[in-house]
Amino acid sequence: LQVGHALIEAITLACQSLISNEAFLNDLDTSAGDGDCGSTLKRGANEVLNRSRSWKCENVEQVLLQMAGCAEKSMGGASGGLYSLFFTAASHRAQAYTVESWNDCLAVGIAAISKYGGAEPGDRTMLDALVATRNSLETSISENASIKTAAQNAAKVARQAAEATATMKAKAGRASCVAAKLLTQPDPGAMAVAIWVEALA
Ligand code: ADP
Ligand code: MG
Ligand code: MG
Repeated sequence: LQVGHALIEAITLACQSLISNEAFLNDLDTSAGDGDCGSTLKRGANEVLNRSRSWKCENVEQVLLQMAGCAEKSMGGASGGLYSLFFTAASHRAQAYTVESWNDCLAVGIAAISKYGGAEPGDRTMLDALVATRNSLETSISENASIKTAAQNAAKVARQAAEATATMKAKAGRASCVAAKLLTQPDPGAMAVAIWVEALA
């Protein structure tokens, strides 16, 4: 039980929410890419749901490293590689169950995605929702907010950031090869981030 059932329960909710949004995320990826973003995330989520029952959960680092392993083994696609890098980097900064620790995890996870994927905020990717989530946590830290308030605010901000990608030019991933006039819906990867941040909150 060491890190607490709360973390595994939160991860379970995030996985279930991604799974029930498979068709929605595939639809978003149909106009902007190859239509598989929801199915790719569903594979990862199912892997986590199946494996987490027998995970060692002595600390948050261990949990996040096992998430990275699931992403690497089961997902494929751009999201598979990027989520594996994200969770691996984040695991090395996971300490306590605090807003500060989650903020540190996000910061290094974002840096890893940006380093290996070459995208930056504003490029119409999952980074847009991740960076907005992180900025929201920073604000919560400066306001001394509770972890619950921080999570709820982060969820709202993540959703707004994902929706805001609808009007962005794509500079990374498959969407960067699609004519701008066809990109009228939000980026699927950014929307997926909003979905899991909301579920965690
Ligand atoms: P694929 O193009 O391999 O089918 P997925 O459908 O699994 O990829 O995921 C697509 C999502 O991955 C995009 O919506 C975007 O958010 C994210 N993405 C793609 N390339 C990058 C990148 N270089 N940096 C950050 N995110 C990216
Ligand atoms: Mg795709
Ligand atoms: Mg694909």
